[in-house]
Amino acid sequence: MAGGPNAAIVMCLHCAGKAVRAHEGIENDLYRCEDCGGNFGIDWSDGQPEIPRWPPSPDELEQARRTIAKRKAGSSG
Ligand SMILES: [Zn+2]
Repeated sequence: MAGGPNAAIVMCLHCAGKAVRAHEGIENDLYRCEDCGGNFGIDWSDGQPEIPRWPPSPDELEQARRTIAKRKAGSSG
């Protein structure tokens, strides 16, 4: 019951693609990205989203892509 129905699909933390919920926990949901195949978890203990997390707005998408690009550029190896 972690993220609720609005958190069934979210933006991938790795590539900003479409990630679907693979497992629903008490506080954390686990997601699997349909684009890059990456797995990650999101902690919803602060509250469920009030609006669907997918699709993201153009601004959200742009911001996420920048964050990911910056993270990749900053990592060595
Ligand atoms: Zn991904």
